Amino acid sequence: MSLYRDEGVVLRTQKLGEADRIITLLTRRTGKVRGVAKGVRRTTSRFGARLEPFSHVDLQLHTGRSLDVITQVETLHPYGEAIVADYARYTAGTAMLETADRLTVGEKEPALRQFLLLVGGLRTLAEGGHEARLVLDAFFLRSLAVAGYAPALSECARCGAEAVRAFAIVAGGVVCGSCRPPGAAVPAAETIALMIALLRGDWATADASEPRHRAECSGLVAAYLQWHLEHGIRSLRHVEREWPAREPADPSLTRPASAGPSPAWSGSAGPAPAREPAGPSPARPEREPASPAPAWPEQCEERAESAPDPHISRT
Ligand SMILES: [Zn+2]
Repeated sequence: MSLYRDEGVVLRTQKLGEADRIITLLTRRTGKVRGVAKGVRRTTSRFGARLEPFSHVDLQLHTGRSLDVITQVETLHPYGEAIVADYARYTAGTAMLETADRLTVGEKEPALRQFLLLVGGLRTLAEGGHEARLVLDAFFLRSLAVAGYAPALSECARCGAEAVRAFAIVAGGVVCGSCRPPGAAVPAAETIALMIALLRGDWATADASEPRHRAECSGLVAAYLQWHLEHGIRSLRHVEREWPAREPADPSLTRPASAGPSPAWSGSAGPAPAREPAGPSPARPEREPASPAPAWPEQCEERAESAPDPHISRT
């Protein structure tokens, strides 16, 4: 057994046995780590509350044979407090955690850029200075870029021509008139400009964008992300449902039939999937929702009152 220290963001938690939890974190140096937090579901647990989704923590772990054991936790930034207090931030934040989890496939494979993106995204979301949907789309675009899937936005993804006319997910971004595949979306030039601004972190341009261009941008980014992730982002459906400002789907933006299942952004997405796995699966720990979402906002007010001291406290 060896001891190591790292900082990380809690991505999700799962119940284990009677009183323990498995905590999945994306850490700065070690990459994705799954650690057991013993006794955290007992009311007397000192550090259970610090290991909630969205929390940025400093922690000490013992290397175990299969799972590491978390022995010490201190809160660096309790981003969850501000994120769960607002439903748009909460759904966007949940989609960010799930995306970071999905894009870091292997455990203990360093993923520093993805970690920094996640911490920056959660901080921006918690501060509330920009619309949650814009923060989420910026996070998606930059995460895709880190993963090597940055969409082409200024030149044709296929031939490099500068005169672009459409956006084709299958082609990898914007395309010119000659390379444009059937069914490619034809977004407004302002929508592509917004995507470029979000990818670069140009918030002045992004904040000044019009709602219809934000809606179109969200639709394209979500469809592009889902295309690159094999099973899609489950929590994105909640985001889509909670943003009624989205305009009716433009038929020219629908995904080509060859691109697989329809993206959730069109508003025609079915009911949200159950948060718990269907049927009993005793061999695997039960997955818990990131926070008691159905009871919002009452639960969140309770959480805020009983929230841990924001100052750093050591176990
Ligand atoms: Zn072309």
